[in-house]
Amino acid sequence: MEFYRKPVAVARPADEYCAECDAPMTGDEAALNYKLVDKKTTRLLCPTCLGKRLELKPETLREMITLFRKQGCTLFSPWVDIDT
Ligand SMILES: [Zn+2]
Repeated sequence: MEFYRKPVAVARPADEYCAECDAPMTGDEAALNYKLVDKKTTRLLCPTCLGKRLELKPETLREMITLFRKQGCTLFSPWVDIDT
């Protein structure tokens, strides 16, 4: 019998799709829009499109996600250090 185990509930936005190119993105990538554009924005962009708009590289945006997570920003999923 198939048993679907629900993932542990974490307080983070649901996964979204880019308003510009329809690319799927993680909750953290969507959260970056709230952080960098507007907390109430409904037009969510993937790191590529957001990067074009803000003139930043997608890699830079991903580094920012990591930074905000490490800072404990509640818009993002919690950072878990597994290397220690
Ligand atoms: Zn996009």
